[in-house]
Amino acid sequence: MIKVIIFDLDGTLYKSKGIAEKFAQAAYYTLSKFKNIPLDDAQKLIEEKRQQIEKEYSDSVPQTLILNSFGISTESWHKENIDFFDPRDYLTEDEKLKKSLNGLKKYYRLAILTNNNRIQTERTLAALRLNDLFDRVYTYNSFKLLKPNPEFFQKVVEDLNVEPEACFFVGDRNSVDLEPAKKLGMLTCKVKGPEDIYDLSIE
Ligand SMILES: [Mg+2]
Repeated sequence: MIKVIIFDLDGTLYKSKGIAEKFAQAAYYTLSKFKNIPLDDAQKLIEEKRQQIEKEYSDSVPQTLILNSFGISTESWHKENIDFFDPRDYLTEDEKLKKSLNGLKKYYRLAILTNNNRIQTERTLAALRLNDLFDRVYTYNSFKLLKPNPEFFQKVVEDLNVEPEACFFVGDRNSVDLEPAKKLGMLTCKVKGPEDIYDLSIE
């Protein structure tokens, strides 16, 4: 029996071209700053690396993974993107999503499991007016772990005090979200964005 629904955040509970662009620009800026190279060169290096890593991935590559591959720590990257942009400038309340989640909340505990940092996650949930809906919000800052590391998923089920089989994972990336969740024993659902959650029912 499903007890908890765990949602990815970015690309799952919202979709925003503006935010995706800001994340990309923040990544170029961060590499440029840390390597002391022109912004154009940083962009070129990042996009080359993205294509390279993309071959091993079934879907788009997280910026964090690309910056890590250049020796930039997740903490440094998060600090830079927190200063670089605020998701509240791009997002507004999603009434349909809120209604759907409120309906699900009557029967299930709701949680978030994201590679994003705590500050950007809080800003995002505030902008979407979803901040009171989740029993638990797990970010990179919770355990200093990133998906698809199975340890991150393991820590989350331990903290939720449920069996993986009692969890239903909703996410937009196979390699980062769904494959590790499935491997642990969770049921999973791939979405293309919040529209796919408006009528989500679990049976
Ligand atoms: Mg995502």
